Amino acid sequence: LYGNANAIGVKIPGHWSRMAKKVYEELRPPERLLLGAGPSNVDPRVLKALTSPIVEHLDPYFMEVMDDTVELLRYTFKTKNHITLPISGTGSAGMESAICNLVEKGDDVIVCINGFFGGRMKEMVQRCGGNAIAVEAEWGKIIRKEDVVKALAESNAEVVAIVHCETSTGILQPLKEISKLVHEYSALLLVDAVTSLGGCELNVDDYGIDLCYSASQKCLSCPPGLAPITANEKAMERIRNREAKVQSWYLDLSTIEEYWVENNRAYHHTAPILLVYALRESLRLLYEEGLEERWRRHKKSCSALMKGLEAMGLKMHAQEGHRCPALTAVKVPENIEDQNVRRTLREEFGITVSGGLGELKGKIWRIGLMGINSNKRSVILVLEALEQALKKEGYPLKSGSGVATAKKILS
Ligand SMILES: *Cc1c(COP(=O)(O)O)cnc(C)c1O
Repeated sequence: LYGNANAIGVKIPGHWSRMAKKVYEELRPPERLLLGAGPSNVDPRVLKALTSPIVEHLDPYFMEVMDDTVELLRYTFKTKNHITLPISGTGSAGMESAICNLVEKGDDVIVCINGFFGGRMKEMVQRCGGNAIAVEAEWGKIIRKEDVVKALAESNAEVVAIVHCETSTGILQPLKEISKLVHEYSALLLVDAVTSLGGCELNVDDYGIDLCYSASQKCLSCPPGLAPITANEKAMERIRNREAKVQSWYLDLSTIEEYWVENNRAYHHTAPILLVYALRESLRLLYEEGLEERWRRHKKSCSALMKGLEAMGLKMHAQEGHRCPALTAVKVPENIEDQNVRRTLREEFGITVSGGLGELKGKIWRIGLMGINSNKRSVILVLEALEQALKKEGYPLKSGSGVATAKKILS
C-alpha cells in the first residue's frame, strides 16, 4: 500500500516509508507425482486449456464448449440421461447436490456406510432433514445386498445412497444386484462415483443408477473444482414433484439444468469457464483413449502395484475380489511410523501418497493410480521409493522384490 503511495508521489509519514515492505515470493509449487487419494496429476493439454482466453459464460463459443462437455460426460458415465452436467464445486458439492435434491424433510433414506464417504453422505442426509437409515459394513468390506434388502423391507425409504469406490478403504462396491433390489422396492439408487468415474467399470444406464455424481480431480485428471453429475428421468421426476423447494439455491438441479442443458441457456451462476475448458480437455483425452481401454489400463497398473506390494511383504486392506483399480489401500506394517514413510516419499522422491482417514488414520496408506497416473512409470517409481522409505525405517525386505514382480506383470 505505502509502496504504491510513494510511486505516485503521495507524502506519507516518515516512519511508515521506512518500514520494510513485505515481499511475497512468486508462486513456485513443487512438482509432485500425485499418487494419493486425489487430486491426480494433470496432463499438459489440460494445463494448456486452463490458460486459454476467458470468454463470457453466455458467449456462443462457450455454449459449444458446454455442449461438447455434456456429450463427453454422457460418454464417460455411459448414459443417455438428458441431465448430465458438471456442478461448480468439488466432489462434495456433487454429493450435496444429489442429496439435497432427492431428500426432503422427514424422508427415510438408506445410506450405506463402509467408510469415510458413506459417513459424509449420512451427515448430509441428516442436514437435509432426512431420516438416515445406516446399512453398515466394516471399513474394508463391501456392503452386503441382504442388509440393503432388510433395510428396504423395514422402512419407507425411497432413496438408497451408496459409494461405488470407497476411497477411504479401497473397496469397489458391486452395484448391479443392489440396483435390481432397490428398484424392486421402487426406490431410487444414488451412487457416489467420485473415484470410480473414468477409472473403473461403471455403466450408469446399464446398472440402473438413477443419480450419480463424481469429481474432476480423481480419475478424470483435471484440477479440483467441478463435480460431474447425471440424473435420469425418474430422479428428475422426484425432484420436480418435491413438496418444498430444494433448500440450496445454488445446487438445485432443476434450475442449473436451465443453464446447462436447455436451449434457453438462462443465466444461473457464472460457470468457472477455465475449469470447464479443462474438464472438456480431460474428457477429450479420455475419449481419444476409449473408456474401456482406460478401465483396462487402470486394472493392469493396479494389479502390478498390488503384486509388487505383496512381494515386499505388505498386506492389502480391502477385501479380496473387491479392490478398486484406482486406489489401493495397503496396511502400514507393525512398528512402522506412517508419517515418516510418507515424509520420505514426499521429500526424497517428490511422491505424494495418502494416509488413512478417520478410524484408519495411521493404519493404512492409500496409493492412487488415477487417470493419467495409472501407468508403468508410477507403479515402478512408487514401489522403488516405498522400498527405500521402508528400509530407512528398519523394515526388513529383499531389495528390488516389489519392482521385479511388478515389471513381470507389466511387460
Ligand atoms: C474425494 C471424494 C469425495 C469428496 O470430493 P471432494 O472433491 O474432496 O469434495 C467424495 N466421495 C468420494 C468417494 C471421494 O473419493
